[in-house]
Amino acid sequence: MRFIVLPVLLLLIVRGYTQVTPPVHPDQRPRLVVGIVIDQMRWDYLYRYYNRYAPDGGFRRLINQGYSCENTFINYLPAYTACGHTCIYTGSVPAIHGITGNDWYDYTEGRMVYCAEDRSVEGVGTEGKGGKMSPRNMQATTICDELRLATNFRGKVIGVAIKDRGGILPAGHSANAAYWFDGSSGRWISSTYYMKQLPQWVNDLNAKKLPDSYFKQGWKTLYPLNTYVQSTADVQDYEEKPFGPDAKGLPYDLSQYAGHYSKLSATPYGNSFTKDMAIAAVNGERLGADSITDFLAVSFSSTDYVGHAFGPNSIEAEDTYLRLDRDLGELFHFLDGKVGKGQYLVFLSADHGAAHAAGFSVQNRLPGGNNNAAMEKPLDSLLEKKFGPHRFILAWENNQLFFDHHLMDSLNTDARAFSKTVIDYLSGQQGVERAFLIADAATAPLAGAIRTRVINGYYPTRSGDVQIILKPGWMTGEPMGTTHGSWNPYDTHIPLLWYGWKIKPGKTNREVYMTDIAPTLAGLLHIQMPSGCVGQVITEITN
Ligand code: ZN
Ligand code: ZN
Repeated sequence: MRFIVLPVLLLLIVRGYTQVTPPVHPDQRPRLVVGIVIDQMRWDYLYRYYNRYAPDGGFRRLINQGYSCENTFINYLPAYTACGHTCIYTGSVPAIHGITGNDWYDYTEGRMVYCAEDRSVEGVGTEGKGGKMSPRNMQATTICDELRLATNFRGKVIGVAIKDRGGILPAGHSANAAYWFDGSSGRWISSTYYMKQLPQWVNDLNAKKLPDSYFKQGWKTLYPLNTYVQSTADVQDYEEKPFGPDAKGLPYDLSQYAGHYSKLSATPYGNSFTKDMAIAAVNGERLGADSITDFLAVSFSSTDYVGHAFGPNSIEAEDTYLRLDRDLGELFHFLDGKVGKGQYLVFLSADHGAAHAAGFSVQNRLPGGNNNAAMEKPLDSLLEKKFGPHRFILAWENNQLFFDHHLMDSLNTDARAFSKTVIDYLSGQQGVERAFLIADAATAPLAGAIRTRVINGYYPTRSGDVQIILKPGWMTGEPMGTTHGSWNPYDTHIPLLWYGWKIKPGKTNREVYMTDIAPTLAGLLHIQMPSGCVGQVITEITN
């Protein structure tokens, strides 16, 4: 009897023991995190082109095998690239991290500032000004910084994007490197913020001169033109002409651009070249090769250039997403082999969406238009007439007006009368829904969605005095193509997909925000949240 009871008892004890032991050691992490931002991708593109995405390739692999947060919103203004990338990775808002636009008037510096500019560094791999970049203007850590801190700087972080700000801001302050595209040379470059010279693997990739072979292929659609039934017929008056005034639509002959590499950005090949660089970075830096988690932050910028030029309803946009789907499929397939399926964690989101081209809206009797009857000059003259011959408005940027407070103080300008003049003028302009003092945003009778976004975007030394809210579908500036930046769903409803390590398949329609991505990653990785984080953990995505 003893011979039977003892083993059974032992078995029960062992079983009981294993049951109370947590299934995952808290330190357990994926080998690699791959953050993917698609510049200007609206949420609806996941489904608009779904039937033409490859089954289990790029987007459909994430949708069907991963977890989709279907109602993810941007919760600040303006919906621009620099803010989007920063908010995703900091879990914070411009009011805290200070990246209030791609550019802003900086009252401390007394001049316009570019989000990623850094006059104290030099380019690496380039002689041009485009290399003088770093994340120093960003006032908070990113989730990549927190991974570096959590691993005592043993986990590697690399940022990659055609746009400098798309790679630099996500990768954060303590990144091993960020790389971006130099349009003048067609090469991947960096800055002395990160390194003294490019690593050999970057030189090797640059030496392949892939942009030349991409240009040689030209831009032909993946499928016959008449199968692009989700898009308006090619060549419309409201489209920009990035390939010259004589270009007659698809297919585009790109052979003339050999040597003019900046054109690569406005073709789907900018995304392909980014995929090439991402793969080269995993190989060159041995990302995901050991148990210390690494982070690859990739942003695909060409979707934004193509979107601006042709609008969301164009064949160019559709073809760009179908090709991006192939590039993503290739990247995931590569990661399966290199890092191992289930060993890496992916999230995919966007920095903002885009409005339909104003011309498209007008053509289809949808509300919207383009107020390109420049508002600046008439307002300047009005202010001169009323308050004296001076330049009172320092900048119009991010749909805000920046007043010259020093000038107004020195002239003893009646601030109330001045603001009222500006607001009355703007309120009477075509396409303007509201204009108000940002300082009054908390008490002004504004829709809640607008109020929250204005306040979350307000950083006193880098924000203007007056906020302009345009009517739905309206934009200002260039009459051709389209843009983004507003609070409206077409600009602020973005995809958010999770895939891979610990992620269960599924979806939620619960409203979540761009700022929830970083704290969710912090939770998954068991690391500290970024230093300005205001988001919430999305709890549904794991078992
Ligand atoms: Zn963007
Ligand atoms: Zn854009």
